[in-house]
Amino acid sequence: MKLLNETELLLERCYIDGQWVDAPARLAVHNPATGEQIATVPRLGAEETRQAIAAAERAGVAWRALTGKERAGYLRRWFDLVMAHIDPLANLLTAEMGKPLSEARGEIAYGASYIEWFAEEAKRIYGDVIPATQGDKRLLTIKQPVGVVAAITPWNFPNAMLARKIAPALAAGCTVVAKPAEQTPLSALALARLAAEAGIPPGVINIVTGDPVAIGGELTGNPLVRKLTFTGSTGVGKLLLRQCADTVKKVSMELGGNAPFIVFDDADIDAAVEGAMVSKYRNTGQTCVCANRLYVQDGVYDAFVAKLSQQVAALQVGNGMQPGVTQGPLIDVKALAKVEAHIADALAQGAKVVTGGKPHALGGTFFEPTILRDVTAGMKVAQEETFGPVAPVFRFRDEQDVVVQANASEFGLAAYFYSRDIGRIWRVAEAIEAGMIGVNTGLISTEVAPFGGIKQSGCGREGSRYGIEDYLEIKYLCLGGI
Ligand code: ADP
Repeated sequence: MKLLNETELLLERCYIDGQWVDAPARLAVHNPATGEQIATVPRLGAEETRQAIAAAERAGVAWRALTGKERAGYLRRWFDLVMAHIDPLANLLTAEMGKPLSEARGEIAYGASYIEWFAEEAKRIYGDVIPATQGDKRLLTIKQPVGVVAAITPWNFPNAMLARKIAPALAAGCTVVAKPAEQTPLSALALARLAAEAGIPPGVINIVTGDPVAIGGELTGNPLVRKLTFTGSTGVGKLLLRQCADTVKKVSMELGGNAPFIVFDDADIDAAVEGAMVSKYRNTGQTCVCANRLYVQDGVYDAFVAKLSQQVAALQVGNGMQPGVTQGPLIDVKALAKVEAHIADALAQGAKVVTGGKPHALGGTFFEPTILRDVTAGMKVAQEETFGPVAPVFRFRDEQDVVVQANASEFGLAAYFYSRDIGRIWRVAEAIEAGMIGVNTGLISTEVAPFGGIKQSGCGREGSRYGIEDYLEIKYLCLGGI
């Protein structure tokens, strides 16, 4: 196949029932590095969403009747096409979202890895045979697709968050209506274009852009939608959960985090600094698994802060399209205001700036990579997700003390700690309340492992052999009269 170029992948129409749909009302998409408008997409509402849901319901009849192996074939072709288009997709992603091009390429490959993984898993949806308690009966379970899935995704991983919802849904035999974030609809539309090229039939994937309240209202209220999968803020997640209650939908929620990152006295400090850099400053601190609270034990506190600030000084802030840039802009002015407010609050309560601390000289939504020291539990940086390039470094005394502090959060998504003591590694890993724990590493995400949180960070898991279960119902068959 001839590869599509960037212009052909920049789509300014929605994808419903295999058609590219236009509308006079528009939503502007801006490049956060330059402020420039790069495209407009349709501002659709409840009516078009209803049409997309009806199309998904119709398409589901044939899609679920395919064998797992047949669905796997479609997903595999889609994966191949995404990987073949990694350059134009990464360019588009950086243009609409701002992350450095190397990170954008990484995201495309990461998103594609979920398509590849679930293409493989489509062939492995097993039921069980249950030993019966009566001789004349045979008991078994089969697994079936839940039906039409609604997916609502955020702007921080415009490609990967969508791929890791659509791929398991399709593998399971579900069809999808997806609403990408207003800031970053282009990556979603490009993915749909490649799905169409891969031959995925009309109506199996639908993408609607526009008014989040109107579209979200329809996606959560329409009884034909059987499941909602959401990644985004805890506040919106709670609202959507309430909206789903009336029609008792299945839900998967990947919400906010407030990840602790703990460095014990016995840790390899250089490794801990390296892990903190990756975990804290990737995507300019705008990931839900970013280290948000760095707890460093007394004995290594000063050494850790000194080494971390050396590394932070080497970060290159700028337009993600420029070679060498490692820190892009924040997504918008609201994000910048939150970072500034968190820093001001910490300073007012006695924290000190080690490096950074203010908007970057480049202007716009660029912010200096920042380290704060002498941070304490009453500050906003301890309680809320900052979602920016700010590392607040707390001091702690002992293991018990830090576990209590790490767990003093309503969130429980990711956590990280560095130690070389095997007993401590087990104790702390078991005691920390989080869905994912990085031990001596700051990078934990992979398609083969379960991604998800506990407490108010959400429910459900994405990726791994568990991920497909969120899109399946268990049906129990009781055969009598044997
Ligand atoms: P953030 O604050 O990081 O932008 P949000 O939770 O607001 O996170 O956004 C995540 C996704 O939720 C986006 O696709 C956004 O459009 C969507 N969203 C926001 N508000 C609503 C709503 N009331 N109903 C449905 N979707 C919504």
